[in-house]
Amino acid sequence: MRLIGVHTSIAGGLHLSVKRAHELGCTCMQIFSHSPRSWAITYPSDEEVESFKKELNRCDIKAVFIHSSYLINLCSPDETTRKKSVKLLEYELALADMLGVPYVVLHPGRAVGQPESVAIKKIRDALAEICSKRGGSASLLIENTAGQRGDVSSYMSLIAKIVDNLQEDCIAGICLDTAHALQAGYNLTTSEGVERLASEIKKYLHPLQVKLIHLNDSKTPFNSHTDRHQHIGMGAIGTEGFKKFLSCPDFRNIPLILETPKRSESDDRENLQRVKEILKAVDR
Ligand SMILES: [Zn+2]
Ligand SMILES: [Zn+2]
Repeated sequence: MRLIGVHTSIAGGLHLSVKRAHELGCTCMQIFSHSPRSWAITYPSDEEVESFKKELNRCDIKAVFIHSSYLINLCSPDETTRKKSVKLLEYELALADMLGVPYVVLHPGRAVGQPESVAIKKIRDALAEICSKRGGSASLLIENTAGQRGDVSSYMSLIAKIVDNLQEDCIAGICLDTAHALQAGYNLTTSEGVERLASEIKKYLHPLQVKLIHLNDSKTPFNSHTDRHQHIGMGAIGTEGFKKFLSCPDFRNIPLILETPKRSESDDRENLQRVKEILKAVDR
């Protein structure tokens, strides 16, 4: 059975994120482990960790993913920001260890005017530093990005350059975002586009595999290089695109997390329902 879930809020306490996911009928979930717009490093108490774990058991959530902070830029041209980013990512991994969460999702960085090769080298150096110090069990999933404002992980070939020769036990695999893929230039509305994405993953990233799919529709058109998410079936990928994508054998049996817009309480429910309908049609 395919695991499906959404990104839920930790407002009011980590354990409440689990309850929120459970009430939506999720079998997996994603959270920010702390405020994603703050550099502050504070650890949860033993009680908070305990009640988070207890709630996971009670709610039968099979997999949890942590999305790392948007502040992290491992290739920032500002050395202070780059160093703070390394520290913050180490903190994200330490938090994941405490919470028993195996994977932390990372957007590696934005070049901000630097040549791409310089940015990629900085990210590799930062990841090598983090990996060399790693003692815990949590590891990283590198996410593909839309290719906007100098982000350097929009193509599989670029992700390959970022992770090449790094310790495998530190980089566990890829988080594939469908909206970002379409925005970056992988046309998921056609079988050829889905096939191209699947074959590039095999060609460039082997032995790394996709461990998580961020299933989002795109508010911006194909090749827009602009990251805006849309409700499932209502964007540039559309229901037919998701059918093509989800029926590709390479993308079966991978957990799905939705990061679709939440304007009202019912948005998550409706998006989850649409995904379930698409999966029913695909698995028939
Ligand atoms: Zn992301
Ligand atoms: Zn996005």
